[in-house]
Amino acid sequence: MTDPYKALLDHAYENITGTSDDEGRFTVPPAKVFHEGKNTILENFAEIASVLRREPDHLMKFLLGELGTSGKLEGTRAVFNGKFEIELIKNLVVKYTEDYVMCSECGKPDTRLIKEDRIMILKCDACGSHRPVRKRRARPESVANQLEEGKEMEVEIQSISKRGDGVVRIGKYTMYVAGAKPGQKLEIRITRVAGSIVFTERV
Ligand SMILES: [Zn+2]
Repeated sequence: MTDPYKALLDHAYENITGTSDDEGRFTVPPAKVFHEGKNTILENFAEIASVLRREPDHLMKFLLGELGTSGKLEGTRAVFNGKFEIELIKNLVVKYTEDYVMCSECGKPDTRLIKEDRIMILKCDACGSHRPVRKRRARPESVANQLEEGKEMEVEIQSISKRGDGVVRIGKYTMYVAGAKPGQKLEIRITRVAGSIVFTERV
């Protein structure tokens, strides 16, 4: 005989789990980033990889590639060689989530990365769709090799300098775009490269 109280509990529990299955439940923990000496630390790296259900090595490789630097995992945190803007690291975690975790069909994070014929496929367990992982634009290293005076290119402003110029970091380079705001995508022409500083004008 069924215990009515237990049935009631089961029912309540079903309701709770039902609610928690809504897409609203999925939140990527905000990246905790700070500078330590000449390095940039992503304090909750392991937590992020675990919530995204991705191999720590895969996430780390992505971040290092995008930053164009080297680094290492140290316990549950990631250490990047070089002082990178905090917002930049945060944005990269969001980009990784969009490219390698979220299903573009149903918008859910219940996906897996599988390899088919050497192509990385993002397979969604929620809606069954699958797509090749979006090809990212050129890696920072390869773009960095092409930074020369007169070159025109499209850039996305990542942050803003103390002087109010838009800032784009590409590998070891810092590019300044006058009067541009973070998030803005625009065409620029490189007017001068001085060491790792890149001056531009808008096209
Ligand atoms: Zn889906």
